[in-house]
Amino acid sequence: MNVIKGIKFAHTIFPISLYAFFLFLSACGTEEQQVYINDDAISNEEQVANWLAYGRTHNERRFAPLDDINVSNVKNLSVDWYMDLPGDVGLVSTPLVVDGTLYFTGTMNIVRAVDAVTGELIWTFDPEVGKHIREKKQTGFIHNRGLSFYKGKIFGTTWDGRLFALDAHSGERLWMVQTFDPERALYITGAPKAFKDKVLIGNGGTENGPSRGFVTAYDAETGEEAWKFYIVPGNPAEGFENEAMKMAAATWKGEWWKHGGGGNAWHGFTYDPDFDVLYIGTGNGSPWNQKIRSPGGGDNLFLCSIVALDPDTGEYLWHYQTTPGESWDYNSTMDIVLADLTINNEEVKAILHAPKNGFFYVINRADGKLISAQPFVETSWATQIDLESGRPVEVDNIRYENGPAYITPGANGAHVWQAMSYNPNTGLAYIPALHEGFIYSDESIDLEKWKSIEFVGGTGVRLFPPEKQPRDYPASLIAWDPINQKEAWSVPQDNFWNGGTLTTAGNLVFQGRSDGVLLAYNAETGEVVWEFNAGLGISAPPITYKLNGRQYISVLVGWGGIYAGVGGKDAYDMGWAYGIHTRRLITFSLDGKANMPSLPPPFFPQPLAVNEFEVDQDMVEKGGNQYYSKGCNRCHGSSGISGGMAPDLRASPICINKDVFTSIVKGGARVNRGMPQYDDLNKEDLIALMHFIRDCANSSLTED
Ligand code: CA
Repeated sequence: MNVIKGIKFAHTIFPISLYAFFLFLSACGTEEQQVYINDDAISNEEQVANWLAYGRTHNERRFAPLDDINVSNVKNLSVDWYMDLPGDVGLVSTPLVVDGTLYFTGTMNIVRAVDAVTGELIWTFDPEVGKHIREKKQTGFIHNRGLSFYKGKIFGTTWDGRLFALDAHSGERLWMVQTFDPERALYITGAPKAFKDKVLIGNGGTENGPSRGFVTAYDAETGEEAWKFYIVPGNPAEGFENEAMKMAAATWKGEWWKHGGGGNAWHGFTYDPDFDVLYIGTGNGSPWNQKIRSPGGGDNLFLCSIVALDPDTGEYLWHYQTTPGESWDYNSTMDIVLADLTINNEEVKAILHAPKNGFFYVINRADGKLISAQPFVETSWATQIDLESGRPVEVDNIRYENGPAYITPGANGAHVWQAMSYNPNTGLAYIPALHEGFIYSDESIDLEKWKSIEFVGGTGVRLFPPEKQPRDYPASLIAWDPINQKEAWSVPQDNFWNGGTLTTAGNLVFQGRSDGVLLAYNAETGEVVWEFNAGLGISAPPITYKLNGRQYISVLVGWGGIYAGVGGKDAYDMGWAYGIHTRRLITFSLDGKANMPSLPPPFFPQPLAVNEFEVDQDMVEKGGNQYYSKGCNRCHGSSGISGGMAPDLRASPICINKDVFTSIVKGGARVNRGMPQYDDLNKEDLIALMHFIRDCANSSLTED
């Protein structure tokens, strides 16, 4: 690989007499740089050839000091190269670029290394997720948000909970570990975080069983466990792992450990080289309903917090809890961005954090104290954050104690994992925001008897759509001024679930939308300065890098994330039906000349009309309540309406063919494409499922 690159480089620019010299330099340089991509390299904001970490550098700003592409010339941006990914489904990940090679993780956690200049495939690594999901019941998702690079190694994760290290040159597997008990209903969709010769990973699954969240750091060289940090306390009778758990336990009531407690850290991990501290963003409660989880209240540490840990030992240093007594799925797992701000003439090393609860937090990294917080969307659960105590000023009945309560933001959050970026030149953070509320009610739930069952799970509260949403548009791109804690500009968007953002010194912000359009905005004003129709919903954030004097913008195009699974009719209406639109990695430059064929138009699978299948209502009930709503719906959509992550079963002839249906659901015939094997279902269960699916199809047909 090095040799080929060396020749190319020399061939285009230098006379033949210099071949050997540059061949030598290039090969050595590559080796050296890759091995020495250490914390100093990953902390370097100035370098522009690479995109070394999930958020580009350890600061996680997703800002590049590149201005070759800028507000004046971005109109000339065009496709330089592209790569079709015909087997892929959801693509949500951030590619890395290291020394001319672009690495990314696709569907089923397949890792690819691609020449970042030509788009040629260098190697592929397949962790064979299908084999692993065959072995157990499954929950979780077919997609993954990214990789980590450290000292010549690529680190990736799998749906079924494995963490692996690859040789970056060859793609050869160096080590692989299972990071949680495979009998647990946990999963990984997040990128691992490499720092100080370690690599950290958490997991998701708070809603899928009685889950107690934790993160684990492994030795980057060997894969041996270095340390583990639990996010919530366990049963006090068994003793606490550390003082932090003892302290946290004082904020819990009842027998919380029986419900797990939750807190799963599935996304935001940031290593802070300035203070040598690791921050983890923690998740919501298991279950959401605090009356079940911790009857009588309490803050329930360390749910919905930023927890600062010693990166070497995993020891607790400090925490800031954004949502005490969590009851709404308000994860604080969102991006933890490091910024240097001047506030009241003082230089402040700050954390910027915009979690699901709708407030934008600026936290002092020196001591973990809150500097300021203001709502960036409507926040009906709290009027403000009290700066003295750092606590929200809550309104009445927000824990639905006196009956159903309308709460915004709702469980989908004001901002989820779609990347926020921060531009030190404009001083603004760019947030892909959602505007949605729900009515929360536990009136029909027996709180005393409620129990979470592994792989069945639940939240302990029911959600209903309100008559009116907070705004007449479901999403927006918000440019937020963290110093003055106010919106600088925002752009309303017609559709939910748009992608993450990238910002550059070219005074630009890039974002892909769920309708398939990739846009560049003037970072200061929000004016649209370029747009490109990729022909398929974009969920991943763009990246940028500069090689051989040319700046590139690269993005994975592949509708994905939970909304593509459970988004229902709204997601269906986007037209990104399963199996129709080829997923792509598209790379742009100002001199791009690639001729990329367009994709088919949006497609809407139509339910099959089948007269000979007589639906039995008892079977429908059983198939729906016992099976479909406890697993199938996560990918195939509720009421059989697929948002595109998996086939729309209403339209599938397989669902009226008992033998083929059995071979897939029970036999595992499609595990390689991400359909788990449910071999504990008997003949009658399978038939009940078929009745439920047919009933969904019939209902849709009658509605039309
Ligand atoms: Ca959650």
